[in-house]
Amino acid sequence: MTATAPPSANTDVRERVQELLAQMTLEEKVGQLQMLQGGGWHVPDHLREAIRAGRVGSVLNEVHVESVNELQRIAVQESRLGIPLLVGRDVIHGFKTVFPIPLGQAATWNPALVERAARLAAEEAASHGVNWTFSPMLDIGRDPRWGRVAEGYGEDPYLTGVMGAATVRGYQGDRLDAPGSIAACAKHFAGYGASESGRDYATTNIPEQELRSVHLPPFKAAIDAGCATVMTSFSDLNGIPATANHLLLRQILRDEWAFDGVVVSDWESIRQLAVHGLTADDRESAREAALAGVDVEMTSTTYANHLVDLVQGGEVPLATVDALVANILALKFRMGLFEHPYTDASQFPAPGAPAQLKAAREAALQSVVLLKNAHGTLPLQGEKHPRLAVIGPLADEAHEQLGTWIFDGDADLSVPLLPALRASHPELQIEHARGLATTRSEDRAGFDEAVALAERSDVVIAMLGEEAILSGEAHCRADVTLPGAQQALLEALAATGKPIVLVVMAGRALALERVLPFAHAVLYAFHPGCQGGPALADLLFGRETPSGKLPVSLPRVPGQIPIYYAQKRGGKPWTPETLVRMEDIPARATQLSIGNTSFHLDTHPTPLFPFGFGLSYPSFRYEALQLSTTTLRRGEQLEVRADVINTGPRAGTDVVQLYLRDPVASVVRPARELKAFQRVTLEPGERRSLRFTLRTEDLAFTGRAMQPVVEAGQFQVWVGHSSDADLQGEFRLVD
Ligand code: BGC
Repeated sequence: MTATAPPSANTDVRERVQELLAQMTLEEKVGQLQMLQGGGWHVPDHLREAIRAGRVGSVLNEVHVESVNELQRIAVQESRLGIPLLVGRDVIHGFKTVFPIPLGQAATWNPALVERAARLAAEEAASHGVNWTFSPMLDIGRDPRWGRVAEGYGEDPYLTGVMGAATVRGYQGDRLDAPGSIAACAKHFAGYGASESGRDYATTNIPEQELRSVHLPPFKAAIDAGCATVMTSFSDLNGIPATANHLLLRQILRDEWAFDGVVVSDWESIRQLAVHGLTADDRESAREAALAGVDVEMTSTTYANHLVDLVQGGEVPLATVDALVANILALKFRMGLFEHPYTDASQFPAPGAPAQLKAAREAALQSVVLLKNAHGTLPLQGEKHPRLAVIGPLADEAHEQLGTWIFDGDADLSVPLLPALRASHPELQIEHARGLATTRSEDRAGFDEAVALAERSDVVIAMLGEEAILSGEAHCRADVTLPGAQQALLEALAATGKPIVLVVMAGRALALERVLPFAHAVLYAFHPGCQGGPALADLLFGRETPSGKLPVSLPRVPGQIPIYYAQKRGGKPWTPETLVRMEDIPARATQLSIGNTSFHLDTHPTPLFPFGFGLSYPSFRYEALQLSTTTLRRGEQLEVRADVINTGPRAGTDVVQLYLRDPVASVVRPARELKAFQRVTLEPGERRSLRFTLRTEDLAFTGRAMQPVVEAGQFQVWVGHSSDADLQGEFRLVD
């Protein structure tokens, strides 16, 4: 940064971009659009040569600071125009210090904590020369079969937007050119989470109304928070691959939202346009992606091979290429890369320092959701439970609790549950049996040892679920129940009659209906990151109280998917009176349509646990819902007030959630929509009056003309601790 001309001043950036652009050959312009793989410790000669020749604008997956500095030096000192490189990396939930997977971070409902985690991750990554992360992933996750739900913030557009914006603020800080700031990337634009049957990379079909109401708002929130870049999705949206989709990339992103940052393809997703069947070959793919406005080509080389020719042949206007390059150069100026291309690792705290581990532990603590606690099984008490059986294939696995997509994660910083319990409770007799080799194992040879251990113990902590590799990109499952013989293991343990505390670690919402009866208490920990073990030990023994809330509905059985709280009611909604159970249907019963409602014959129509749900050691009561008015004028604000009371014997934290419904509208609205939430910590017996402010814009939806509309009429509002909240009020919006 120079004292006289701050690089983030937009007018200045525009001038500098135009000046530089005017000096560039067409080949050098195309070079800026190319992102190539780094080479690890030994920078390959072809990469050095390509950078020197101005044929590369960015690299990814290069995290050795000496190598990054060398690449930057070649770019700055040996290429004709000296343009520094963007250095990208998937920093998804931490760098060396691994935080809970994003789905677990969403369960904290604590955007300040999520922002802090992103900031610490940014600093660790920046100390290695990384200046661009491909995160946050803002795809809505309503299908837990899809492995990438682990990387997102759950099923809800509002919660995802709040968490996404917090993550962007963490990565980018107040200024993109400040030390420790890295550019964020909102991905995958857009609709990727709707991959058919939860199979990664599959087609997506999303009506525009739904696209605008559910899938796009988190991206808008991230961009409003200043997110510098956006990545396209691998999938096609309604027949047009996202990487060549003008509705998404031109109309919505650039025209409607005025996004002036960088759009990057996903890995080879420009080349894949031909695999989709949109284009015949790489040349056409390059043309379609460039015309749609994809600035950076990740790893494939269709631009490098064909764009010069396409411009010279008049198929892609030079002005289009100039605009793509200008976006990239502007970002490099805004990031201060021209002034500070090199990384001095000694400027940064060492990765895995106490502050990082403390934040990772706090995030893990707040991400764990208490689903069940029959007869106050938890918290455990050392005096009552001096002999502890810790059983399961995940209890002593430093790597598995880290979760998916942790290229740089340091498993040496990871403390699993077993050693954490031994360290925090040396006075207890703690024994371990795996029961199963892995979560997927069908071999029951370890059952006898596990059952014998349970029998000689006072309480069993069973740690089951999914290893890290069972979720994440391309790791989708059709049957989202406990894999392998874990159900049988749990049942064998329960048969001992000992109290069973089940800790579930998973990268998605699992269907746990068959599991629940065999556990007295259940903690759902997602993949809690490197401090998961100590955090769980604190929660199990009550040194801390659980405060996580589900960012997704947990299905009873996989066949309910997709099941989410905002589902529309339909014209024949189920009622308790109309439910029929399969076993109650008489043989050869006549089929009638009259009086039928919407449900499955073989399961209850509700989820096992609703979105927003989570218990604590104290319980909370809600009362005294008050609205500042029952007749709201357009443009005015409504204040919603409610009291929350800690009815338990100890302090605890609840997340107070506000839901809204527009019961009559020109486009049918969801059953409920989350509009606001607050985390509150209350002392035993404490009552707190909470206020929420709703603005008219909060009542808006995408109307028939695909524009936001706010329609006058009646609205319902609920306040409580899950999407099932029953404390209800009503108001009328009038013109
Ligand atoms: C993923 C992206 C990721 C990229 C770079 C792709 O396979 O879909 O989310 O950022 O690889 O690693």
